[in-house]
Amino acid sequence: MNSTLLEPTVTAHDLPNLIPSVEWITDTARVARLSQDFAWFSPILKRDLAGKVGEVVARPRSEVEISAIVAACAKAKIPLTIRGTGTGNYGQSTPLFGGVILDLSGFNAFCWVRGQVGRAQSGIRLSEFDVHARPHGMELRWLPSTFRSATLGGLFGGGFGGAGSINYGPLAAPGNVLAVRVMTVEPEPQIVEVRGAEAMLLHHTYGTNGIVLELEVALSPCVPWSECVAQFESFDNALEFASKLTKAPGLIKKEISFLAAPIPTYMAPLMPLFNDKQHAVLMVLAPQSIEGVEEMAKAFGGGFCYNKTAEEVQSSNRTLVEYTWNHTTLHALKIDKNFTYIQSGFTPSKHVEQVKALEKELGGEVLMHLEFLRTKEGDFNCSGLQLIHYTTEERLNEIMAIYRSHGVQINNPHVYIVEDGKQNNLDPAVVKMKERFDPLGLLNPGKLRSWASREQRTS
Ligand SMILES: Cc1cc2nc3c(=O)[nH]c(=O)nc-3n(C[C@H](O)[C@H](O)[C@H](O)COP(=O)(O)OP(=O)(O)OC[C@H]3O[C@@H](n4cnc5c(N)ncnc54)[C@H](O)[C@@H]3O)c2cc1C
Repeated sequence: MNSTLLEPTVTAHDLPNLIPSVEWITDTARVARLSQDFAWFSPILKRDLAGKVGEVVARPRSEVEISAIVAACAKAKIPLTIRGTGTGNYGQSTPLFGGVILDLSGFNAFCWVRGQVGRAQSGIRLSEFDVHARPHGMELRWLPSTFRSATLGGLFGGGFGGAGSINYGPLAAPGNVLAVRVMTVEPEPQIVEVRGAEAMLLHHTYGTNGIVLELEVALSPCVPWSECVAQFESFDNALEFASKLTKAPGLIKKEISFLAAPIPTYMAPLMPLFNDKQHAVLMVLAPQSIEGVEEMAKAFGGGFCYNKTAEEVQSSNRTLVEYTWNHTTLHALKIDKNFTYIQSGFTPSKHVEQVKALEKELGGEVLMHLEFLRTKEGDFNCSGLQLIHYTTEERLNEIMAIYRSHGVQINNPHVYIVEDGKQNNLDPAVVKMKERFDPLGLLNPGKLRSWASREQRTS
């Protein structure tokens, strides 16, 4: 195609004919499905994003194909919304203004492992990345519970971290993501390598300020992880055990998830083992640490009720990781459609007391689910994905206000604008990055408020 001939009247629907070498999806029902993610966890987002769909989906497999699509969109000013596999929670890959959905799940080659560093194209699934890294004795430092289907680019563009964040913090911690290769959205797209702190300006920006083609990430040595569950009668003991284990330097772990009663009874593998008064701590542990962790659980009045080796986990194809993070919410929603959730960041060193106080105030209506981790700065902490018996939007907002009044940060999962969620103090350098990589403002328009207000100021 000679794209210099494109008329400004070209629409998204014309692109499949103009660039026939690319795989296009035009069937309305499939396009609508590929316009959605897991925003339906939130009754508010479900309402606010209803009917928002792209016009066509492009599924490129090479940089040449991506470049042809981007050039055509830039010339005809067609919005472009990047999608990995659409496991995001906030309508991040749902276009607000139609246009092309750029599905990068087919752009998924593994590049290399060198020492403790790996590199791959952004559409690679995280599970697939580890399949390539393990023969080198390495694995990803963090696995979201969606690791089977989520992409590396999607985790970078819209995610936080996951199992492993207890050792390495979130993706955003310096040293985790080393570099990104980015394509600009212009009539003649450029490709640029961005390294270090500058690369992080594209993190968690919902694909609004550049198309990430490849990521280079630091890895960790592979461990044959076992999976265990400790059961407790007392909320406080389970909480204190989880907090103490997080900090125990000699006990090697990848995941500690605290599920207050009755949440364990919603999780399929745990259902037969728990009654609705018992609390669970789900753990992914190095085999040599199991004995020490079991002793520690006993000291807090708990006991192990589930213990699987890495081989057992692999042969059963069932991992506890898929019962942690937002998979807990997913399983609970299968039992009761009236659940929704909030996301909260506690204060390191005060987190145990904050959790106890909030359980006292809201227990029963808000079910405590905590993920223990290290913060970006390295402090031991926990972050909450509390389940809520949803009644009204007003009450949901009241609950979040009560959390804030206890000094707990709310990363509101019921909003779709970047600055309304986790990035409420958006670094102005993020907008500068958008000026550099998306000067026409075509990437996921409407999601970055600071860009929209900049446009208003300059028009
Ligand atoms: C049940 C469930 C459990 C979850 N558990 C976790 C968890 O443990 N930890 C966690 O962090 N998150 C979690 N999430 C959120 C989500 O799964 C992760 O963020 C995931 O990594 C997103 O990957 P994806 O490929 O599905 O991205 P998508 O949802 O397709 O995209 C996410 C965002 O990134 C942008 N994007 C995608 N690819 C690129 C690219 N190449 N360049 C630029 N921008 C891009 C998109 O435009 C979009 O805004 C969970 C979600 C669900 C539904």
